Amino acid sequence: MLKKYASYVIGLLMLLLLVTACSTDETTNDPSQENDNNETKTADAAEELKLPETDLQKMDEGTAVQALQEVLNEIGYSITSNGNFDDTTTWAVTDFQLQQEDLLALGVYNAETKEALEELLSTGDTVEAEAGLPLDAEEASTSHEDTHVLANPYDQLALVNKQYALPSDYTPDDLVVPDVPFPFDEDLPQKQLRAVAADALEELFQAADEAGLDLVAQSGYRSYDRQDTIFASNVEAHGEEAANNFSAQPGESEHQTGLTMDVTTPHINNELTIEFGETAEGKWVEEHAAEYGFIIRYPEGKEEITEYQFEPWHIRYVGEKTAQEITAQAITLEEYYGVE
Ligand SMILES: [Zn+2]
Repeated sequence: MLKKYASYVIGLLMLLLLVTACSTDETTNDPSQENDNNETKTADAAEELKLPETDLQKMDEGTAVQALQEVLNEIGYSITSNGNFDDTTTWAVTDFQLQQEDLLALGVYNAETKEALEELLSTGDTVEAEAGLPLDAEEASTSHEDTHVLANPYDQLALVNKQYALPSDYTPDDLVVPDVPFPFDEDLPQKQLRAVAADALEELFQAADEAGLDLVAQSGYRSYDRQDTIFASNVEAHGEEAANNFSAQPGESEHQTGLTMDVTTPHINNELTIEFGETAEGKWVEEHAAEYGFIIRYPEGKEEITEYQFEPWHIRYVGEKTAQEITAQAITLEEYYGVE
């Protein structure tokens, strides 16, 4: 009797399940259900356009880069979503940054850029591509016939040397004077660095000071015109061949990037000479610069590649990630890019 009753209940339950399943099927034809489906699709699209959480920069690869490229396409760029943080991606990031008042134009995808992109995505607005920076560089004449002019001088990772020059009209728009000791009191332009490099230099100097060392900053930003004057006077004093070995032609000086500072110490009378490398300060800089995002740009033994003599005093900001990589491998920026 009990058994019979149990099977009756089970049978009823099964029937109920069947009815429920049928009614679920039926509701898919309900117009309100269709709307729900569309909403789900929109939510999926937003999910696909999720911005990467990690910082990204030139030469990075993978799904995070691809996700960023898809967002850039969504907001008005038309770049290839190939997962390679290539020159075009660097340009798009820089162009976007140049159009945002609060962002530093570095070509690097960072937390601040993520926030600005998120805001734009949420409003559904787009940007006008190239309104900040044209995609292609204007051809400019340089003294060297085989010199290319950089299309993106804002790029934190820009390679500037005797083959790759900055445009003559390029002046960084975020120059500031870092709060570090200088061996002179005058308020000269050479005290300046781009904001990102100035912050990093302050940290480097702070750490050196805590280690009981006396660093001074001698020469940072230098305009195209100033470099023109310097090179001309070096040619006059030493001849063109010699001048080319230690001095840069206008446009080809890293100092124009605003990412480079020549540092020295009062222990060698604040001079920019090879002796700096032998001082406690010079050795400390060589060992610790990368922790603050700087590299010794013209290392000893790499003269053939950099086309400059060893300059232990000339440090260039490239960001911590690249600086650590370059320093660990004991390579130059040229070798990092494979353009020796
Ligand atoms: Zn220098």
